[in-house]
Amino acid sequence: MNVKDLMTELERKHPGENEYLQAVREVLESIEEVYNQHPEFEAARIVERIVEPDRIFTFRVTWVDDKGIPQTNLGYRVQFNSAIGPYKGGLRFHKAVNPSMLKFLGFEQTFKNALTTLPMGGAKGGSDFDPTGKSNGEIMRFCQAFMLELWHNIGVDTDVPAGDVGVGGREIGFMNGMFQKLARQYHTGVLTGKGETWGGSILRPEATGFGALYFVEHMLKRDGKDIKDKTVVVSGFGNVAWGASKKATELGAKVIGVSGPDGVVHIPGGMTNPMIDFLLELRSSNQNIVAPFAKKFPEATFTAGKKAWSIKCDIALPCAFQNELNGDDAAELLKNGTWCVAEVSNMGCTPEAIHAFQKAGILFAPGKAVNAGGVATSGLEMTQNCMHLSWAGHEVDEKLHFIMESIHEACVKFGLNKNGSIDYVKGANIAGFMKVAQAMLEQGIY
Ligand code: GLU
Repeated sequence: MNVKDLMTELERKHPGENEYLQAVREVLESIEEVYNQHPEFEAARIVERIVEPDRIFTFRVTWVDDKGIPQTNLGYRVQFNSAIGPYKGGLRFHKAVNPSMLKFLGFEQTFKNALTTLPMGGAKGGSDFDPTGKSNGEIMRFCQAFMLELWHNIGVDTDVPAGDVGVGGREIGFMNGMFQKLARQYHTGVLTGKGETWGGSILRPEATGFGALYFVEHMLKRDGKDIKDKTVVVSGFGNVAWGASKKATELGAKVIGVSGPDGVVHIPGGMTNPMIDFLLELRSSNQNIVAPFAKKFPEATFTAGKKAWSIKCDIALPCAFQNELNGDDAAELLKNGTWCVAEVSNMGCTPEAIHAFQKAGILFAPGKAVNAGGVATSGLEMTQNCMHLSWAGHEVDEKLHFIMESIHEACVKFGLNKNGSIDYVKGANIAGFMKVAQAMLEQGIY
């Protein structure tokens, strides 16, 4: 394979789809060397096939707002790759959602899911619906209208959606209710991230953040470090930032900064448990601002227009959105002495930022490895649903620990540098790719 030629061809087929092209380029650059050692991959044109989604559904979603006015949004489901299992991946409701974003997320999901050790293919979906400022009733009507179309294309052994940005337990509830009504059958396993009383897994809401911290613990341990007493900053205040803050605090670290689209909150003494739980209130208020945090807790100060990366810290955890940490942010973090960055959001750092971290030789790990605990626990939820039982919290947690350790080991195996350090980007990309590529190869040309 020749990355340059492949990218030229892909740019021709998907003009202007920059996030998707960015995600593909990163994977191709990581796998090039290994791929070229496998003539059987080249013969089956694996790479040309793996970069394209299997299919994409686009549909109109019309719903009625609180003023009685019909609103129309676009809905999508990108079924990216099902070589190792049914399509699996979240739904994102955000005003910036478009086909490029969902293709990038579906592509990443394919390799992330492969890393989890569980049999799940990759998918992503969502809508340009903006939950900011919407009432509960509006959210419900939108979710129902969205499911009215989506339900034709999903199923326990076909495609199992879940949450992502703008989609949490509440939204999954509204969608599951409508799915049952349409299907006239109770399929416990058609969505994951369900409530605990109707088929959800204990620990699923915490899993992405918890898993991320288990991964960070392994990274630190391999480097002879410990997370205790270290300072951490996070971006975002959804389930992911909440889970990450909770586990970091439990492990003895201090979460001293949290940011939103409006600015950053600095908590020099570290977040307390009521502060951590307040993150979820911020999220469910649908206002998408972090400023009320500093009004509620006088120990905290809010600075408008600043990012979490402006705070001096040991460990930085992007937990909100793609490309939320750019080259300038990386320079600021490095200047302030940050020595570990783990992407908890998908593709949270720009290529310039990743390059700066790698050049500086600090610990850096990509989203597809760090945040895989979320979808892995979704996989565990699917297993429990199939078996018609619920595991206890400690059983799920043990499995999550094992999965995150396996992912870390896979990164070490494929990402070991000559000087003994680990290139986690390369390691995660090669490990995920090898599994999907091998599965595709064994199943012929289709
Ligand atoms: N949206 C999450 C992710 O990016 C979770 C997907 C899932 O649980 O299916 O992995």
